[in-house]
Amino acid sequence: MTIERVTPSYHVASVGNVEDYVEEPYEAINLHNLEHVPQVAALPADLRAQIQVVGNVLPFKSNKYVIDHLINWDNVPDDPMFRLTFPLGEMLEPANYRRMQAMLDAGATDDELKHAADEIRWTLNPHPAGQMDHNVPALDGRPLNGMQHKYRETVLFFPSQGQTCHAYCTFCFRWPQFVGLEDQKFAMREATLLRDYVEAHPDVSDILFTGGDPLIMRTRVLRRYIEPLLEPGGAPNVSTIRIGSKALAYWPQRFVAGGDADAEDLLALFKEVVDSGRQLSFMAHFSHPVELETSIVQEAIRNVRATGAQIRTQTPVLRHINDDPATLARMWRLQTQLGCIPYYLFVERDTGARHYFELPLVETWKIFREAYSMVGGNSRTVRGPSMSATPGKVQILGVSEVAGEKVIVLRMLQGRNPDWVGRPFFAKYSETARWLDDLEPAFGEEKFFFEDELNEMLSVQGSPWSRDDLALPMASPN
Ligand SMILES: *Cc1c(COP(=O)(O)O)cnc(C)c1O
Repeated sequence: MTIERVTPSYHVASVGNVEDYVEEPYEAINLHNLEHVPQVAALPADLRAQIQVVGNVLPFKSNKYVIDHLINWDNVPDDPMFRLTFPLGEMLEPANYRRMQAMLDAGATDDELKHAADEIRWTLNPHPAGQMDHNVPALDGRPLNGMQHKYRETVLFFPSQGQTCHAYCTFCFRWPQFVGLEDQKFAMREATLLRDYVEAHPDVSDILFTGGDPLIMRTRVLRRYIEPLLEPGGAPNVSTIRIGSKALAYWPQRFVAGGDADAEDLLALFKEVVDSGRQLSFMAHFSHPVELETSIVQEAIRNVRATGAQIRTQTPVLRHINDDPATLARMWRLQTQLGCIPYYLFVERDTGARHYFELPLVETWKIFREAYSMVGGNSRTVRGPSMSATPGKVQILGVSEVAGEKVIVLRMLQGRNPDWVGRPFFAKYSETARWLDDLEPAFGEEKFFFEDELNEMLSVQGSPWSRDDLALPMASPN
């Protein structure tokens, strides 16, 4: 038996000077100004054409910080940050690619391009896991379209001004809203409705601001959503305010004085949340260790933590990007050293360019297990690999053999019914399954234990927590 040794070093790469980064203004890069980016102009014509063809179907937006400081242009097209940023030929099925390419070559009009692109988009499962229909709560019988309430303790809130990002990730499961495919973005204007809703649901302890990226909003706008929750007597059940954001990775200037003009005000707002006695949890998306290795992201992390906020991190396992145990282990170690708490490792969702990024579930588990075994206990706060599927967050515990049958062992980390959480269950072993829907119950069973209850829940629109007929377990009062 050999035990692998890692070369110990607490040294963390910290590229560049904070003072230089903060002088660089935010500059969005999209399909229209892309050719003015020198690194892009120097790419082979074929790669540039791929970006144009696929960028007409899948959303594309980046910024100068990502392009100048996170992508290694000597390693293109293999560079993981390049693939996380630019739509590439393989991200579309070949037939769809040829169709868009032929239309661009023939000089199709914008309307014709959009029509064809929309047809392709509708084939890419734009609304996975019933998020449009089955998670929307109601107040006094009115649906609250800017909210989702799937799990008892946590309400997701989509502020309408926070529905874009500083840069898009090519794997993102929220891609339909960036291409205008949805009639109804998950967005809502009224902050007071949010407060009224959570006050009416005493089991809710967490509000998660999400998007898009809520930190695309100016601080004074974000303040309008958060401050009503902090008022004396307002939403006493809410103990944690979470903000889901990729801004630390893609625009750390948001948190550093001299960067965004309202950076200091944002940090002051975080501190207000902490001073109210609540937890501010910054749910940070980091998909690759490179995103943690500039001096400005490290300064931004220090500044956020200095407010008393905690930073928890999450990413999916992505083929071509981070599907390697050493990469994930290095990322978690770095995060832990910088004071962030590794939280979730997800399975790439069943939408958009999934075929480019996805891996078989057993493969994902092997990568997770190996990476997990390479890090210290402080980094083993990470849970996964986890599928955000219709019944809940389903974790792949691993492959095993029970009574002579090879099985995949699973459990829910979150359930549409909290009673489902933590119960091990078993699927027939499958080398190829890539999502919960591909799995079959083991031991000749006809269905998984939760299926009847799930179907009952799905037979009516809307969040289970807005219905009286389901008799779901409430949290016990403390
Ligand atoms: C992941 C998720 C949450 C948060 O779950 P936690 O396990 O508490 O982090 C809440 N709502 C939805 C719909 C989710 O997918």
